[in-house]
Amino acid sequence: MSCQALDELKQQIPLLDYLQAHDWQPARQLSRGRWMGLCPLHSDHKPSFLVDPGKSLFYCYGCGRGGDVIRFAELYHQVKFPQALALLHQWRGLAPLLHEAASFYRMQLHRHGEAIAYLHQRGVRSPELIEHMRIGYAPGGGCLRRWLTQLGYPLPALLQAGLVTAVGYDAYTRRIVFPLEGNLYGRSLSALAPPHRFLPGAKGGLYAWEQVRRYPEVILVEGLFDYAVLWQAGFYNVTCAMGQAAQWLARRLRERGVNARRISLPDGHDPNSFFVQDGDARQFQSLLEAALP
Ligand SMILES: [Zn+2]
Repeated sequence: MSCQALDELKQQIPLLDYLQAHDWQPARQLSRGRWMGLCPLHSDHKPSFLVDPGKSLFYCYGCGRGGDVIRFAELYHQVKFPQALALLHQWRGLAPLLHEAASFYRMQLHRHGEAIAYLHQRGVRSPELIEHMRIGYAPGGGCLRRWLTQLGYPLPALLQAGLVTAVGYDAYTRRIVFPLEGNLYGRSLSALAPPHRFLPGAKGGLYAWEQVRRYPEVILVEGLFDYAVLWQAGFYNVTCAMGQAAQWLARRLRERGVNARRISLPDGHDPNSFFVQDGDARQFQSLLEAALP
């Protein structure tokens, strides 16, 4: 493998994403965007594992080991360099599979009245929004599994991605599906199932960040339905924290010179219920102007 190919692989797999996909959690933030947490490589009781997301490097003050994402994969999986590369390639290869799954779920959305009815009830109506967020529906059973195996994806790959359960059923059943960076979020229609589900792995940071980053000011909301109703009302500078603390993200945004606003809505409202019930965009704009950055 050439140096260039190695650099490319490292660029495509940010160390922090890879760590978080392996359940590593930052414990506290240091200067220059660096993080400290428990070391996943030795039995650590106080955080001694330093991560620099900017440089995609780690160092452990406890066991003295450090390096890039390839080195981490070697140590974590206890494999040699070529196997570590193979594992990372496999991990990166997940993207096409998730893309196929998301496309399949999108095709299902308009075939299931209950899915559309649920979206309406949550205030999601505009076809542009459904297109923009690539919203889909997972009916469950074994339809995704059949579709993907027909396309040539081997069952072990589907199991590993978490799309199919150990007994061979689709993991998402009766869920609205939102594709994320490297994951799929599934919101259950049924009150009997856990409402929120993600596939194993990283949850993908800030939603639609590439589209939002050009705005000098962003609105940070808690959930994807909040995001949806705001976007639908014409607030395109909105983003949502996926699986990470919103406060921490707001701080990171400020460090990058982006002003992040969190809005105070009338009692008992989140942006979603505000728009679904009685609020309009003008009212929301005035609340926004009143909000402190
Ligand atoms: Zn260590």
